[in-house]
Amino acid sequence: MLDISTAKFFCNLVMLRFGVIAVVVCCTLTNVGWAQNSDDSPQARSLQPTSNPNGFREYKGKHLTLVTDLPHTEAIGELPVVFDAAMPMWGEYFGVDESEWSGWTCTGYLIGDRNRFQQAGYFPVNLPPFVNGYQLEDRLWCMEQPSDYYRRHLMLHEGTHWFMTRGLGNPGPPWYMEGMAEKLATHQWRNGELKLDVFPDRREGFEYWGRLLLIKKQRGTQQAPTLEGVLRYGPTAHQQVEAYAWSWAAIWFLKNHPRSAEAMRKLQKAEIGNIDSLTTKLLSQLRPHWEELSTSWNAWIQQLDYGSDVERDIPLFQSMTDPKSSSATFALKVDRGWQDSGLRIKEGDQITIEAKGRYQIGSDPEPWWCEPEGITIDYFGGQPLGKVVGLIARGDANGEMVSGPSTELLSVGSKLKHVAKQDGVLLLRINEPSASLSDNQGSVDVTIEIAR
Ligand SMILES: [Zn+2]
Repeated sequence: MLDISTAKFFCNLVMLRFGVIAVVVCCTLTNVGWAQNSDDSPQARSLQPTSNPNGFREYKGKHLTLVTDLPHTEAIGELPVVFDAAMPMWGEYFGVDESEWSGWTCTGYLIGDRNRFQQAGYFPVNLPPFVNGYQLEDRLWCMEQPSDYYRRHLMLHEGTHWFMTRGLGNPGPPWYMEGMAEKLATHQWRNGELKLDVFPDRREGFEYWGRLLLIKKQRGTQQAPTLEGVLRYGPTAHQQVEAYAWSWAAIWFLKNHPRSAEAMRKLQKAEIGNIDSLTTKLLSQLRPHWEELSTSWNAWIQQLDYGSDVERDIPLFQSMTDPKSSSATFALKVDRGWQDSGLRIKEGDQITIEAKGRYQIGSDPEPWWCEPEGITIDYFGGQPLGKVVGLIARGDANGEMVSGPSTELLSVGSKLKHVAKQDGVLLLRINEPSASLSDNQGSVDVTIEIAR
């Protein structure tokens, strides 16, 4: 069972307020005891500790020296190996050449008993209080975590801050540095192979990560931030673990939305100069599309789940719409997420939606044929699988937070008459997790009439 409260951590923010940038470079590489042999067993990947002068266990990797008071386990001995495997991936992701990072080294403290580390002088005076993790200059502090996955995650999270600080000048504003660190720290480590930047397909293997559970709990409520609300997180926002979840989701969304993907791609490999100007510059680039982006965000988070096909779930908006239109006919694709009907709804509008067609929502072992009422063999989100569903979604066009829920879900089926409870864009899709959409075939003929 996930215990999200233990997953809270607070890092880096005070560092930014002090404006401290990494200054210490240790170029002395002592490659001790980390050679791997051809045996792919965990023991072969796990380093053996030596005892340092203060009586702590020390594991020496190429880029990370890990100091800990915890008993030796294979998973702990593997941490410097994981860290070394992440280095070329961070370099590739942020456009930092190997010739630059090949000599970078840092020290990581994996802490069981804080007092022991304090007494040994491993907490410098400029290290602020932290809950779970912190990075300062060429040092990382990580509290012990309740799962092997989350211990590695935290070390990779702090490692991402460290790499961005060294490679890009600084790690960026709160939403960006925490979102990036979360995105890259979410990983797979299987049979000695590391994959960063993984979108979790299930809870198993990501124990104590919990970000999607937080999003699912808050979406559709007043607690869910708007997209701009995430981008404007202040320096203390990440004292709440929810802010890590939303920052992580915002990075995934902006990197995959066609209106923001290019701006994000350029940002990723650019030096981060002034921290505050990064968000201002990005927002000014995206502002012409902000209504679409912020509405898409509110719709997109409704479906976000383990195994989501992020790209397929990005809502498709029509490029030209007449806000006064009161009717529409279109073919709803059954292999995509939310699709714009082209109609803008006002609170109190009487909406009639009719859907007709026969389509395929699965192929294993036989084609699963479906009609707009869906099939009751299986349910998703409390509705029959394959049923036509609707969403009235609104954004924050002027950068203002909207009051009240930003979305209204509609159970459409073959026919629905409904009085809109809010303004917004009318979107439609079939009811199925996005991870299962790709093998669908066909479309649904949809007719919509609005009486005002
Ligand atoms: Zn962080």
